[in-house]
Amino acid sequence: SAKAAGRNAYRFFKPEMAETIERRRRMEIDLRRAVEADEFELFYQPFYDVARGTISGFEALIRWRHPERGLVSPGEFIPIAEEVGLIDAMGLWALEAACRQAAQWPSQLSISVNLSPIQFRDPDLSRRVEDILNATGLPPSRLQLEVTESLMLEDDRATLAVLQAFRARGIRLSMDDFGTGYSSLGYLTKFPFDKVKIDQSFVRHLTEPENIAVVRAVIGLSRSMGISVIAEGVETSEHYDVLEREGCREMQGYFFSPPVPALEVAGLLMRFRPQPRMSRPAGEADT
Ligand code: C2E
Ligand code: MG
Ligand code: MG
Ligand code: MG
Repeated sequence: SAKAAGRNAYRFFKPEMAETIERRRRMEIDLRRAVEADEFELFYQPFYDVARGTISGFEALIRWRHPERGLVSPGEFIPIAEEVGLIDAMGLWALEAACRQAAQWPSQLSISVNLSPIQFRDPDLSRRVEDILNATGLPPSRLQLEVTESLMLEDDRATLAVLQAFRARGIRLSMDDFGTGYSSLGYLTKFPFDKVKIDQSFVRHLTEPENIAVVRAVIGLSRSMGISVIAEGVETSEHYDVLEREGCREMQGYFFSPPVPALEVAGLLMRFRPQPRMSRPAGEADT
């Protein structure tokens, strides 16, 4: 538990830690202020559908527009928000903002939103998601929720029940960062996932045979289970070619586009409008 961890931290306390703790404390105060001041916004990164040559949807990625520091990335503040109990409010805000935005888009586009494992401790999570769908008018079939493997370390039965409730509503579930954490292929049989997101760490070094083997195995296994696959962190035409050859049908990464503000979504849809004769998009890496 956090208490036990706290006791351990105390036992091994060293003076250098004071600085880290002070930095965290200041971050927490700043984060609480930012929630009040509404300093968060969403960026959107496209999912590229290989067979159709178009964008199939977007992932919403939160950003903190700090008055002095500029854009702060979620890797810096989400862990602290989780630690100090701000993630529930922040996560629901992101979900609602993303659904509201996606409801304005062409209806074939899905919206994918990250949920923290901490949010699953809220016994009312599925009702809150339902309320957001109702408030925004987004059809549940257009919503995908992304969770990481660390969720599976939470209370199994409660987690499974919530995931099944989402599924029963027609919301789709993606396992994010697949292959990193406490990976067990068993999770794929036990929990009702629709999609697996191959972590960018495998894609980054895709020329290494071990990583190709992992990608091939994940694609093969997922396909046999009726689960779709998307590769994250696709940055180059080499990545694209290898993944396409391995039968990966959906991709995400800087090769197509970085996460962009909502205003730039229309431009991306134009740039990736259907062009059936092209085998691969003219990504940034080609120009
Ligand atoms: P994630 O969900 O795995 O998101 C993918 C991350 O990879 C994003 O970082 C994205 O900008 C980055 N990325 C995309 N394509 C590439 C690429 O080609 N190369 C490289 N090197 N990186 C790429 P970002 O936006 O900084 O988000 C980091 C993490 O923060 C996310 O990882 C997710 O776990 C978390 N996060 C973001 N928004 C939310 C949110 O609303 N709620 C929660 N709970 N977590 C969030
Ligand atoms: Mg994600
Ligand atoms: Mg990921
Ligand atoms: Mg991640």
